[in-house]
Amino acid sequence: MDRARRLDYLDTLGIDVWVSRVAPAIPVPAAPPSAPAPAPRVGGVEAQWDALKAEVLSCTKCALHQTRTQGVFGVGNRRADWLIIGEAPGAEEDRQGEPFVGRAGQLLNAMLRSLGLPRESVFIANVLKSRPPGNRDPKAEEVAACLPYLMRQIALLQPKVMLAVGRIAAQNLLATDLSLGRLRGQVHTFGELNTPLIVTYHPAYLLRTPGDKRKAWEDLKFARGVFRRLASQES
Ligand code: URA
Repeated sequence: MDRARRLDYLDTLGIDVWVSRVAPAIPVPAAPPSAPAPAPRVGGVEAQWDALKAEVLSCTKCALHQTRTQGVFGVGNRRADWLIIGEAPGAEEDRQGEPFVGRAGQLLNAMLRSLGLPRESVFIANVLKSRPPGNRDPKAEEVAACLPYLMRQIALLQPKVMLAVGRIAAQNLLATDLSLGRLRGQVHTFGELNTPLIVTYHPAYLLRTPGDKRKAWEDLKFARGVFRRLASQES
């Protein structure tokens, strides 16, 4: 991305441009996560995506199906290297059937663009596929019913990097109750493929707390560094 556009995106994020003085003192595993056993990526995979989507859209496994307008499966490139995971659809997502399309979504798009990642280049999904009424936190039984869908999305996508946005996504993916502050700034690994998982703030939180956008930008640069290191070790 050229410098002018990047500055424009950073401006959208409300981030003043600065030059990093030191490399982040954040430990990154010396070795890359063990390479996934390559799953067949031909024939069948698209059909499996489509079947999974149909299952999600007709799911009645928890009570949220009674109040949602529609299920929100996820969107983006089914061969993406990056998987972005949020919490649950909000009102606008419930209406449009697509994750992160409201104000938080606009900020997420700007955050991704600032990394040189157009929204269409990544895959975006949520822990819950149905909107909790009033945007309340997901209940344990809702997460238990819905998380297997996200696991199947991850198995199909086999992303190189996962970015959990917000406490709810991070805690559920990492099966922890540690605070978001404790989970940021490290490379976690997810699942049998040891997929690197990085945690950052939820864009809705950043809209309420713009002073933390700078820390979110640090997280994004950290995630990009992890991805680049992996890519260079693979080539
Ligand atoms: N917040 C989320 O976590 N996900 C969405 O899709 C929208 C808002």
